[in-house]
Amino acid sequence: MNYRIGIGLDVHRLVEGRPCRLGGIDLPHDKGPLGHSDGDAVLHAIADALLGAAGLDDLGTLFDDRDPRWKGADSAVLLAECLRRVRVAGYAPVNLDVAVVTEGPRIAPHRAALRARIAELVGLDAAAVNIKGKSVEGLGALAGGTGVAVQAVCLLQRV
Ligand code: MG
Repeated sequence: MNYRIGIGLDVHRLVEGRPCRLGGIDLPHDKGPLGHSDGDAVLHAIADALLGAAGLDDLGTLFDDRDPRWKGADSAVLLAECLRRVRVAGYAPVNLDVAVVTEGPRIAPHRAALRARIAELVGLDAAAVNIKGKSVEGLGALAGGTGVAVQAVCLLQRV
């Protein structure tokens, strides 16, 4: 099989007193994702999409969120380990598409920076990384900017 597709989904609560680290950069916002690691839901969803496409379980299995080693961890480091495992399995990413659902930080003004940073972390051209922000129209659990939900889809090709 030359191509495989994977999906990743992650949700974090947004709280005051945490940097708004999403997609490997700190967005200007008064709340940030709460988590055992830095809470970067964008990188977590991407990591799960990569692992899922390669049939390698998921991020929570590799990095137990009760393990003190990962307390405050930079999710870019966790993503790099996932990518290493994907490559060992014989695959490389082709492209990524990411949807960030939140009424917290605005995504659109930072889209180019996010694409560039994620592309750097995953080893792709920025043109192969897409990211978009979606609001929940004032409905549901994410209304009022209380959280962030991220869905990522990744295509891998055998190398
Ligand atoms: Mg997470």
